[in-house]
Amino acid sequence: MDKFLRWKDSSSRTDDEEPSTSVTKNLKKVVKRKYDEDYIKYGFSWCGDETAPRPQCIICGDQLSNESMVPSNLKRHLYSSHPSCANKDKQYFKRNKIKNRRNL
Ligand SMILES: [Zn+2]
Repeated sequence: MDKFLRWKDSSSRTDDEEPSTSVTKNLKKVVKRKYDEDYIKYGFSWCGDETAPRPQCIICGDQLSNESMVPSNLKRHLYSSHPSCANKDKQYFKRNKIKNRRNL
């Protein structure tokens, strides 16, 4: 009496397709740039977080990224977008800054 009990393995596929988590976290220390009062001469104020301020153009209201908080970038925006304001002094921008605040 040969009885073959075949357990039909209802092939329950175990989908263990684990995505290879070989992504190593690179903890780069990101240096947040601070706003300098002197940047007003480039026509820039700042907005957003105080710990990671973003330069904001006083003339057009454009917001740049924190990484752009460097004189060369601010200057480039001023000269390329507002060449007519490139020769204005701090007082001019300060006045505009106050004016814009009122409009907000
Ligand atoms: Zn602008």
